[in-house]
This record gives sequence, C-alpha cells and structure tokens, in this order.
Amino acid sequence: MSLATTSSLSTIFLCRGSSGVERGPEKAGVGSSILPLGTLMFIDTHSHLNFPDFSEDYPDVIARAKKAGIVAIINVGADLPTSKRAVDLAQKDDFCYATVGIHPTNTNNLKEEDYQKLEELAKSRKVVAVGEIGLDYFHNSTPKEIQKRNFERQILLAKKLNLPVIVHNRDAHQDVLAVLEEKEVKRGVMHCFSGDINLAKKVLSLGLHISFTGNLTYKKNEGLRAAAKEIPLKKLLLETDCPYLPPQSRRGIRNEPGFLTYTAEALARIKGISLEELGEITTNNARELFKL
Ligand SMILES: [Zn+2]
Repeated sequence: MSLATTSSLSTIFLCRGSSGVERGPEKAGVGSSILPLGTLMFIDTHSHLNFPDFSEDYPDVIARAKKAGIVAIINVGADLPTSKRAVDLAQKDDFCYATVGIHPTNTNNLKEEDYQKLEELAKSRKVVAVGEIGLDYFHNSTPKEIQKRNFERQILLAKKLNLPVIVHNRDAHQDVLAVLEEKEVKRGVMHCFSGDINLAKKVLSLGLHISFTGNLTYKKNEGLRAAAKEIPLKKLLLETDCPYLPPQSRRGIRNEPGFLTYTAEALARIKGISLEELGEITTNNARELFKL
C-alpha cells in the first residue's frame, strides 16, 4: 500500500473523530478530557515490527503509524532473535518499547543457556513485559507439557523482574487460566482476546487486562463484540499483532500499526464513546500497566 493511500485514510479518521460522530455535546465539555477535541492517540500494545516482514520499509511503517495517531508501539518477542531485535529497535527509536519472551510454539528444545540469554535481554532498558508467553493448542507442533513448563518458567522470570506478562492463548482457555491462577499472576494482559464473556470475567477476576486486535472487526465475531461490550473500559487495551490479523477492511494484506484505528473505531462504537475518548482511556491503561 502506498503512503499516499494510507495518509488519506488517516485524514478520514481524524475527520471522523473531530466531527464528534459518537460524542454528544455533554461529553465534550470542559473537564471530560485533557486533550484538545479531535486529538487521537493510541498505543499499539502488541506489534511485531521486529519480524522480517518489516525489514524493508520500517521507517515508512512508523511514519504511517504516527499519522494515524499512534504515540507508542510495543514490539513483542516470540523467540530469542525476535526478542533481541525488539530490544534493539527500542534502544534506537524513542517511539518503540520491547518485550522479551518465547512463544509457546517455539518452546521445543529450549536450553538452560537460552533462559540465561532471555533474562539478560529482559533486563535491557525499555523492556516493559515478558511475552508473548502462554499455551497454543491450535498449532500442535509442541507438546502441551513442554509449553506449560516454559509458560510457568517465564511467568517466574516476569515476577523476578517485576514485569507484567503478555499472554498468548489459542484454544487453551482452561489450561491458561489454571496456570495464571496457580502462579498468582496479577499483572498482565490476555492478548488477542478470542473468548466469550465468561472467559473475560475470569481473566478480569485475576486482575489482568484484555486486549483486542483486528479480529474484533471480523463479521463472524459477534460473540467477541458482545464480550467487549461488558469489559470495563479501564481494563481494555488495543493492539494490531501485526503483521497478522489485519482488520476486516484490510484483510489479505500485511497488517501494520497504522491500521489500529479500524479496531479502535469498532471498539468505540461498541462502547458508545468517541474515538478520542477510547484513545485516551486505552493509552492511559497501557501507560499504567507497562509503566511507559
Ligand atoms: Zn503476537
């Protein structure tokens, strides 16, 4: 996609936001927001600009993100090389933060020295969480027991370093909840939430946040939107999980942080608030959880 196309999209977002389509006059009054009316700001709390998919045009992707109102991006590690790359990007770029972690499908054959490297990386400046970690029973490349052991071990690392966790859960609801409960995980986020309201309630009861990707905009995901409606605003986060999961209107192409606004628009509509308000609330939530 060309820069011209995306910047015109950004303009559309800004116009929609500032026209106050979903914001009644009573909500726009003094004191309701510290932002000037029409200011959009979002944090992409789960992005993979550290993946090779973005090695060709990283500066353009960042420029488009800024135009769309993104004020910070958290690049999430999925193995040692991508964790290292996330840390490198965060050191170079004010705009980016990093997390380090081993995705459950990459936990086969992890050695003790890999854990030492992970811990060293986790102590780097601007590392704001351990993740993504969790359980993935959809891709059955890694035995459940191995996934579970490494999930637990990385939770312990997060606790040791006083960092929140970013949890990946695919078709493993019960087991993920059991581990989080047993290890008394209280700070973190269930990323790319894909469950129903019952799962959301359990996640919230642990104290965790819930984050939505472009999957919130998919036509078939009525149940997800129904769950989103019930989740308190103060526990919500936004993410792209790019290059994966582009929003409905961008399906079939590489996702990127600038597309976060599509998911934000869907969520603002569900919650009955303006895009600006949602941006401010979720940005504050992200700043608080990750101490940005
Ligand atoms: Zn991810």
